[in-house]
Amino acid sequence: MTAADLCVTNARVFTCAGPDDAPPAARLAPIEGGAVAISDGRIRFVGPAADAPAAARVIDAGGRALLPGLVDPHTHLAFAGQRVDEMARRMAGEDYRAIAAAGGGIKATVRAVREASDEALFEGTAARARALRARGVTTAEVKSGYGLTVHDELRLLRTARRLDAEGLLHVTTSLLGAHAVPAERQGDRAGYVEEVATSMIDAAVAEGLADACDVYLDDGAFTRDEAARILGAAKAKGLAVRAHVGQFADLGGAELAAELGALSADHLEEVSDAGLRAMAAAGVRAVLLPGAWRTLRQTPPDAARMRALGVRVAVGTDCNPGTSPSVDLPLMAALAVRDAGLTMEEALLAITAEAARAAGVRDAGRLEVGARGDLALLDHDDPRSLTYALGGPPAPLVVLAGRVVEQQAFAPPLW
Ligand SMILES: [Zn+2]
Repeated sequence: MTAADLCVTNARVFTCAGPDDAPPAARLAPIEGGAVAISDGRIRFVGPAADAPAAARVIDAGGRALLPGLVDPHTHLAFAGQRVDEMARRMAGEDYRAIAAAGGGIKATVRAVREASDEALFEGTAARARALRARGVTTAEVKSGYGLTVHDELRLLRTARRLDAEGLLHVTTSLLGAHAVPAERQGDRAGYVEEVATSMIDAAVAEGLADACDVYLDDGAFTRDEAARILGAAKAKGLAVRAHVGQFADLGGAELAAELGALSADHLEEVSDAGLRAMAAAGVRAVLLPGAWRTLRQTPPDAARMRALGVRVAVGTDCNPGTSPSVDLPLMAALAVRDAGLTMEEALLAITAEAARAAGVRDAGRLEVGARGDLALLDHDDPRSLTYALGGPPAPLVVLAGRVVEQQAFAPPLW
């Protein structure tokens, strides 16, 4: 038998695998004294260290917790500029939607993206991707949405694809042309919606740049009918669909996501029981975004209510320059525990196996033979430490497709 490329051994291995409907504790039962071996970028062995194959490189984890590389199911990683001044104004009491209506908010970032060179856009996006990865993330969903022309939306999607091509992160992309109506199309809203539903989707599909299509369905953004037009068109072209739903108002977006068989409905501060029931029946994941509800000082969604209605939950950073300037996915999971009431075990699955389902990525977020060779080693033997701490040090070891991409000197845990 040929040697594996890499084996991480002497770890407490938390596979996050097994059936989706198994209790969280069962999906997080550790393999004590375990090992994971990777060949050709894929996991080849998961089990007791004594049974592991020989490997060209062996790393002793010293009894630390080993998880699948984390999955961020909702990011706007590709953007230019920042909105520090706007944050100061909002923290002083100005309203987010009023600032947006006056040309700030998303429109400010759209101007910055259109002015940025391709290289500047990529360099900023790559810096955020590396920062995300330093905390253990190996797969991210990345949206467009700050271009709002066919030309600029495709630039953003190409930027996201380039992260993957250059080996920074595994990326799945969503076309979010319906993030806002661009300033120059304010008088032609219907025409813009039609352009997104036709030429923008067609161009993204023709170039293979989008895995999914997303719409910001909310008060101050797009209506349910507009979202149905765009997402229906995307689905007909073979794209997966998802939507930003109920961040400010319940416009029936959860029900629409269920009707369309969406991968996820994201935000959900405002959603009815009927909407949650429809999502549960259709297998639509709820993606919770603590960075946004914190910044907007909103009442968070209630995990107990979602649990009772059978909705499966993931957590994302929502990394964006307006409402969630964060690249710390474990911190978001820690906030989801405190604010929304996820259990610590649910929160771990919400940034691994459940996040991969929400992102529509089949072979990540779990440690099983044949899955991507992506690993995140913690500085602790208890994986719940990840959501116990409010922010923490870089992951001691991150492996992407069998390559060690982050490595720190092993130190005692902080807590
Ligand atoms: Zn978002």
